[in-house]
Amino acid sequence: MTTVALKDVTKIFQDGTVAVDNVSIDVNDGEFMVLLGPSGCGKSTVLRMVAGLEDPTTGAILLDGDLANDLPPRERRIAMVFQDFALYPHMSVGDNIGFPLRLSRVEPMARGERVADVASALGIGDVLARKPNQLSGGQRQRVAMGRAIVRRPGLFLMDEPLSNLDSGLRAELRAEISGLVRELGVSTIYVTHDQAEALTMADRVAIMRRGVLQDVGTPTQVYGRPATLYVAAFLGSPRMNLLEASVYVHLDRYVTLNLGDQNLYLPWDDIRARAVAHYHGERIVVGMRAEALTPVAPNSPGDVLQGRIRYLEHHGHESLAFLDIGATAVVVDEMGQAPAEQASEGGPLRRFGHAVQRLTNRGASAA
Ligand code: ATP
Repeated sequence: MTTVALKDVTKIFQDGTVAVDNVSIDVNDGEFMVLLGPSGCGKSTVLRMVAGLEDPTTGAILLDGDLANDLPPRERRIAMVFQDFALYPHMSVGDNIGFPLRLSRVEPMARGERVADVASALGIGDVLARKPNQLSGGQRQRVAMGRAIVRRPGLFLMDEPLSNLDSGLRAELRAEISGLVRELGVSTIYVTHDQAEALTMADRVAIMRRGVLQDVGTPTQVYGRPATLYVAAFLGSPRMNLLEASVYVHLDRYVTLNLGDQNLYLPWDDIRARAVAHYHGERIVVGMRAEALTPVAPNSPGDVLQGRIRYLEHHGHESLAFLDIGATAVVVDEMGQAPAEQASEGGPLRRFGHAVQRLTNRGASAA
């Protein structure tokens, strides 16, 4: 298949817009890489540069280790899938899927066989004679996928391919696309602004903001140990609790995190103590996921935070408690943790989040 490497790639458009700012990303052989970020962060521009539809202003794009900056799109062994599917309305489903083969002059017999194989793999074998306007949104999406797969490309580039579909179908196709792509073993770059899509489909996620790459890692890594403050606040619902704290290392080997009117005591053998110890005397931002906080009975020993519950939110599969801890609002996942009456009385909280790390901003402006 194909590996992709972007090395210090910048794209400045003619009007001076810096769409991509010094981005380096590697996509391994057969890897499903998701580019995630809000609208306008430069995801599509990265994709278009890999496809050869835009030239980088500076930096290098390597395909299979070879410099590809000047390689025409048709020589890149790439297939693209867009959100509007871009199907030919006057052609049948079969002709749409087979179109790339016709362009490369594959003879009709072989073409028909290949189209039938692909269509059956995608579960659309029975609609080959229909026109795109006689298909559901999900079927149209499968035809677009079929047309991308039919030439056995080395790399798939997908730009928000599910964004025009309703949420039920999106969830279904999400699993289908990632399953299919993995089966084929084709390296993929998939652009989305939907974090659920990114976290469920990706081998690794690259998160961008205003043209700047913020973090790259497996879904577990970027969710659990975000590299920047922006990623910490961007990923996850409810968003990660972010608290300002001052760090003090005590000579008798424990660390306190001062959170305004409360202190958390971390014994030295606690890995969280060592994670923050070298910020002695500094103010840091501490990240705590709601699910890392557990309600406990009043006067419980250990690393306890006290907070008053402002309101509870029940979501069926989980309940969230929104609390004020001193001057800061915190959200706690109450799921099966404590008796309900305790929650409604504003009991104190035990267990400090595991994701204790210093978070900073990357890029031109603060979060
Ligand atoms: P979306 O999710 O909305 O598609 P995106 O993250 O894919 O957004 P891009 O389309 O890559 O973002 O655009 C990045 C930035 O570059 C935006 O500010 C956009 O307005 C700008 N931009 C894109 N194409 C051009 C162009 N041809 N000329 C000038 N600016 C452009």
